[in-house]
Amino acid sequence: KQIQEESETYVSTITGSVIDGIITFCHKGLVQSINESAEHIFKITSDEKQGSSINEFTTDGEPSFLEIFDSHFDGQSDPSPMETFAQDQEGRIFPIDLSISKIETSGEAVYIAIVRDISTRKEFQRALITAKEEAERMATAKTNFLSNMSHEIRTPMNAVIGLTNILLQEEPRQDQIDSLKALKFSGENLLVLINDILDYNKIESGKLEFEKIDFGLKDIVQSINKGLGVKAEKKKIKLDFVLGQGVPRVIMGDPTRLTQILNNLVGNAIKFTEKGSVTLDIQLEEKVNDDLWLNFRVIDTGIGIPEDKLDHIFESFTQTNSTITRKYGGTGLGLAITKRLLELQGSEIKVSSKEDVGSTFYFTLKVGVSKKKVKDLHNLAEEEGLLRTFNGEKILLVEDNKVNQIVASRFLKKWGLSMDIADNGKIATELVQENEYMLVLMDLQMPEMDGYTATKVIRQMDGEKFEKLPIIALTASALALTRIKVKETGMDGHVSKPFKPVELNHKIAKFLHGDRRTVE
Ligand code: ADP
Repeated sequence: KQIQEESETYVSTITGSVIDGIITFCHKGLVQSINESAEHIFKITSDEKQGSSINEFTTDGEPSFLEIFDSHFDGQSDPSPMETFAQDQEGRIFPIDLSISKIETSGEAVYIAIVRDISTRKEFQRALITAKEEAERMATAKTNFLSNMSHEIRTPMNAVIGLTNILLQEEPRQDQIDSLKALKFSGENLLVLINDILDYNKIESGKLEFEKIDFGLKDIVQSINKGLGVKAEKKKIKLDFVLGQGVPRVIMGDPTRLTQILNNLVGNAIKFTEKGSVTLDIQLEEKVNDDLWLNFRVIDTGIGIPEDKLDHIFESFTQTNSTITRKYGGTGLGLAITKRLLELQGSEIKVSSKEDVGSTFYFTLKVGVSKKKVKDLHNLAEEEGLLRTFNGEKILLVEDNKVNQIVASRFLKKWGLSMDIADNGKIATELVQENEYMLVLMDLQMPEMDGYTATKVIRQMDGEKFEKLPIIALTASALALTRIKVKETGMDGHVSKPFKPVELNHKIAKFLHGDRRTVE
């Protein structure tokens, strides 16, 4: 007897000290014992506990512990605790983890329910989810803000740069030329910064797409040389380009992004080099069927990068040398963008550098074999600078922004075109019916009716001329997606804003002088 009492005390000491609530009950649901934790969880005062029913621990309409045992725990060899709800004596309903097992003692079934109050855990999970949702909302808000702001800034910048270009062409005095050139330079610099931010934002939000088109490597090299050659010359640095043996002249990939990456690296190399040379070296690494692996190296003899900074230069907004940055500017985003642009194309940028000796940035990019020859490609560099003139052909400019209207029409008039201006897409759809236009320049985002809708309306008008009328989109976005949408809507081409006079001039010439089917 004493042994039995001792062992009962022993057992009740154990059950009394565990955190989980333990309740035993018979097959009729009458409670036989409750440990201290269960009393606490269910707010039971000691005189209530004898003979109460376990149904009191659940709310009406919810399955009782006995039903839960039958449906969830009975017969299962290794049942996991289940999440359900319980109710305490004060009527509070709360989430619990519950497991129930059944034992037979001297022919009678005893059920043992182990209950853990998980309200705190649940609250924590809910808080976590809310915090995550909040963070996602903030990230979206940030992305939207940045992309809207960049867009808003581009529009006036378009005007500043465009009007500066016009003034430069209107025979300014020598002292004005210098100011205008400085204005143009600053404007273009600002645009680069804005594009950087816009790009970074696009990359971060996963909205960036890559093209796969034929392009000439020489064209890329030439455009880099054109943009950065003058800077190198001014610093008396040699700028060299090496196209290795077996590197195909025409390849398939995204020329815009490749140019951007190389411009960043070569630009940096020139920026951080005071004497010596900067070399862009392109070598064929491997060719398997239709895939090519090209190794790009940008080698400079500049100031180099301290070893402890090497790991960090690819992070956003990181600059190792504040003196140089103050001197030459920069956002600290260039390398971060470059790294991500390469990562998104399955490549990785690497650097080796020694202080006061120089740096080499290198990566291997997979591109496609092209079936085209150099002569098949429309050679921009060759034609650059040669503006076409027209004989008073009439075109329609659809653009809601007044300053953009002024900028564009000054150029168009200068080239010998005459034009009408529509403030929005709706007016454009009316004007094309009343007049004979040779071509339409169509802004995309406009009040009243946007450029996509206006184009669709025009294409559906009666008569062959509305089907054939060349429509060129003026887009503020450089996204491939926009270009696809432009094509799908039935437009014949696009020019990005702020437009480069030569590009706009040539595009119009293609349609007015040449066979429009050859464009794009
Ligand atoms: P930034 O706009 O400042 O050039 P980047 O992301 O392009 O931003 O470069 C980050 C930093 O990495 C630079 O500020 C500079 O300290 C360092 N860096 C990049 N390229 C070179 C280079 N070729 N030689 C020396 N330092 C470089």
